[in-house]
Amino acid sequence: MNAINPTAPDNDEIQALDAEHHLHPFTDTQALNAKGTRIIERAEGIYLWDSEGNKIIDGMAGLWCVNVGYGRSELAEAAKAQMNTLPYYNTFFQTTTSPATRLAKELSTLTPGDLNRFFFANSGSEAIDTVIRMVRRYWEVEGKPWRKVLISRHNAYHGSTIAGTSLGGMAGMHKQGGPLLPGIAHIRQPYWYGEGADQNPQEFALACAQALEDKILEVGPDNVAAFVGEPIQGAGGAIVPPEGYWAEIQRICRKYDILLVADEVICGFGRTGNWFGSQTLGITPDLMSMAKGLSSGYLPISAVAVGDRVANALIEKGGEFVHGFTYSGHPVSAAVALENLRILRDEGIVKQVGEVTGPYFQQQLRERIGSHPLIGHVEGVGLIAGMALAQDKANHTLFASDLDVGTICRNHCFDNGLIMRACGNRMVLSPPLIITQEEIDQLIDKALHCLDLTVASLAEMGISIGA
Ligand SMILES: *Cc1c(COP(=O)(O)O)cnc(C)c1O
Repeated sequence: MNAINPTAPDNDEIQALDAEHHLHPFTDTQALNAKGTRIIERAEGIYLWDSEGNKIIDGMAGLWCVNVGYGRSELAEAAKAQMNTLPYYNTFFQTTTSPATRLAKELSTLTPGDLNRFFFANSGSEAIDTVIRMVRRYWEVEGKPWRKVLISRHNAYHGSTIAGTSLGGMAGMHKQGGPLLPGIAHIRQPYWYGEGADQNPQEFALACAQALEDKILEVGPDNVAAFVGEPIQGAGGAIVPPEGYWAEIQRICRKYDILLVADEVICGFGRTGNWFGSQTLGITPDLMSMAKGLSSGYLPISAVAVGDRVANALIEKGGEFVHGFTYSGHPVSAAVALENLRILRDEGIVKQVGEVTGPYFQQQLRERIGSHPLIGHVEGVGLIAGMALAQDKANHTLFASDLDVGTICRNHCFDNGLIMRACGNRMVLSPPLIITQEEIDQLIDKALHCLDLTVASLAEMGISIGA
């Protein structure tokens, strides 16, 4: 019987149906079906409960999105009220809805610089597709239609549509379902601990930014439309570029008159302690993609913030931009996003992350997790952090990538009431922004216990850890 809801179908039945009919994203279906899916039943604050009654700390805020935490009935009420008034209307036919317009206005007050206009979509991937079409259209309108190439980075994540997959730099994704979109080039990622620890971080930052200039010169400066990057790489393993990287990237973009796009899908809406990661990392982008925390994941919605340079050109010289989605500016999603932004603002949540919980989380992670023998390095800002698993931390020896230590650790976490994600051999945390200091302590206690269990599992496999 289902422990939480006795009238619900029981677990075995749901698992059987799931195995029979449901294809999960980013999943080896055969392996999953052999094991059975875990059924998540309800949630409150930072906690989830599964159908067996286990209480789990959600150290990932779903997929980096439940910024205000679970169980905010105001968001349900906002959706209900909007559904009862106007559940749907489009924004194509020279029409708008009040929530869509008010959301655009509200976002313009939160975004930095001259990001004053907003194009709505439903997912981060769609926002990225919109970015690609929009920057290429911008250069057409400016009379330079040959400027088509977008430059991104290896191990970047920009979504899973064909355009998002192509723009992203995930090697495993590039291997499936090609050919990929033409007109995209990749440069090295600024992952200092993994790829640059023989240099000091400043030298490494400059070398990684120099790769952009080298690529621009290789492609031809007049062929490049834009550079796109996550302020902090999320799915790549919560990688924070070393000091100086973004300033140099920005200088190079300006030098060659290349548009700079910040993919804020994870960093946006308080994750790094400011409204946007661009503010934390000192970036002044021409465009921003945003999703996830925009509605705290309660409903799907995304947006592209467009600065005056691109918006004015498209508006004044571009005529009709033939792009959009049935659900662009969906009134119910927009109403929920508005209420979510109100909660983040009125409850001082972003400020709290910037001044209190973020610094506490980072300091506790470095002190307690950073001293664990299995952890080579901790990095992060605000409430996002990545931890590199190391085989011999003193000698800076990482695990071979075919030894899936991240998954071993992730599975121990899952079995012990903590969701911590593995990105290769990096462990990642990105909890709801309403997490308290006491809850951070609990989360770290659990993570430490699971790291110990991982060391024990490795010992059983005959692999020892050099401390
Ligand atoms: C999640 C993510 C996306 C894709 O968003 P979806 O809503 O899954 O399509 C794009 N960019 C970044 C940085 C992301 O983290």
